[in-house]
Amino acid sequence: MCRALIIGAGGVGTVVTQKIAANPAFSDVMLASRTKSKCDAVAAAIGGNRVKTAQVDADSVAELCELFRSFRPDIVVNVALPYQDLTIMDACLECGCNYLDTANYEPKDEAHFEYSWQWAYQDRFKAAGLTAILGCGFDPGVTAIFTAYAAKHHFDEIHYLDIVDCNAGNHGMAFATNFNPEINIREVTQKGRYYENGEWVVTEPHAIHRPLNYPEIGERESYVIYHEELESLVKNYPTIKRARFWMTFGQEYLTHLRVIQNIGMARIDPIIYNGVEIVPIQFLKAVLPDPKSLGANYHGQTSIGCRIRGIKDGKERTYYIYNNCDHEQAFHETGTQAVSFTTGVPAALGASMWAKGLWRGAGVFNVEEFDPDPFLAELGPQGLPWHELFDTDIEV
Ligand code: NDP
Repeated sequence: MCRALIIGAGGVGTVVTQKIAANPAFSDVMLASRTKSKCDAVAAAIGGNRVKTAQVDADSVAELCELFRSFRPDIVVNVALPYQDLTIMDACLECGCNYLDTANYEPKDEAHFEYSWQWAYQDRFKAAGLTAILGCGFDPGVTAIFTAYAAKHHFDEIHYLDIVDCNAGNHGMAFATNFNPEINIREVTQKGRYYENGEWVVTEPHAIHRPLNYPEIGERESYVIYHEELESLVKNYPTIKRARFWMTFGQEYLTHLRVIQNIGMARIDPIIYNGVEIVPIQFLKAVLPDPKSLGANYHGQTSIGCRIRGIKDGKERTYYIYNNCDHEQAFHETGTQAVSFTTGVPAALGASMWAKGLWRGAGVFNVEEFDPDPFLAELGPQGLPWHELFDTDIEV
C-alpha cells in the first residue's frame, strides 16, 4: 500500500487530493501547504478523516524533511509552485521518497523555465533507487503521453508536432487567470519559441497566430507560445522536424495583459512601496480573482490535444488526439474549474501509475518515457475521455 503526500492546497491540489483519496491504491493520504486552513477545508469536504493535513514551507528543505520523516510518504506529489521543485526534490532524496510534479522548475527572480535544473538530479535519483516523474499535468503531461501513444501505435516517425490548447470557457470576469496568476502571467508574456530543424526559433511574444478549429468549439485565434514539454519531446523523439505549442487567447485577455505589462505590474523584481519591499506581480496576484474561485460561473469547454504528421508503413499520415473538458462538469464533480481539473486528474493518475508499479524506474523521467497505455486506459474513466481523428485536415 502506498502513502501519498500532496504539497500545495490550490485549485490543482484540491483535485489531486480528491482523486488520490478516492483511489484504494493509496493507504494513507496527507495534504500539506503553506496555509494549513486551506488543507483543512479540502480534507473536510472529502470527509471521513481520510486526509491528514499539515503546514509546511516547501521552500525549506529542513521543514520538508521533518514532515517527510513523520508522515513517511512513498510518493510526494508536488502541486505547489514551480519555485519549490528543487527543494522538494532535495527533501525526497534526503528522506528516500519518490517524486511527481506538474510544472518544471523556475527561479523566482528570472521568468525562465527549462528542464536542465531537474534533469541534473538524474544521477542522484538513480543512485538512490528513487523515481522522479516530471510534468504530469495536462500540458505538460497528457500532451506528452498522447505523443508517446501516437509514436507507439500510429507512427514509425513523427515529423511535425503541434500541441493545441484552447480554453473556450467564459468565467464572466473582465480578467482572471486559470491557474496561479504569477506563474501564468510569467508564462504567457515571455517570448515565443518553437523547434525547427534542430534549432529553437525565438519570436516576439504572440507574434505568430492564426485561427484554428477545435472540436465542438469552432474557430479560435491561436498563438504560438513556448511550453516546456517541447524541450523533452524533441529530445525523446529525435525524428521531429518541427514542434510548436499553440494557445488560444481572447482579445480582451490580451489587452489586459498588455496594460499589465505596460504599467509595470508584471515586474518580478522587488520595489519599495511605503518603505516595504513588494514584488509587483505578487501584489497583482493578491488582487486578482483566485483561480479556484472561478468555477461556480464558468461555462464552456477546454480542448487540448496533439496534431501530428509523420510516416506509418511508408505513407504520410495525420493524427489528432485530444480531450474536451467541460468547466461546469468539472465544477460539479470537484468544485474547481476545468483547468485545475485537467491538471489534477493526470497528476493523481500518474501517482497511481507509480503506486501500482506500472510506472517505475530509478532516475528522473519525463512522462513520455513511460508506457502510455495503462495511463490512457484510466484517463477517460477518471473524467478526461479522449478521442482520435485519423487522416483529417489538421490545419497545421
Ligand atoms: P495555486 O496558486 O492555486 O496553488 C498553489 C498552492 O501552493 C497554494 O495553496 C500555495 O499556498 C501553495 N504554496 C505556494 N508556495 C508554497 C510554499 N513555499 N510552501 C508550501 N506551499 C506553498 O496554483 P494552482 O493550483 O493553480 O497550480 C499549482 C501548480 O500546478 C503550479 O505549479 C502550476 O504551474 C501547475 N499547473 C500545471 C499545469 C499543467 O497542465 N501541467 C496547468 C496548470 C497549473 P497558499 O494557499 O498559502 O498561497
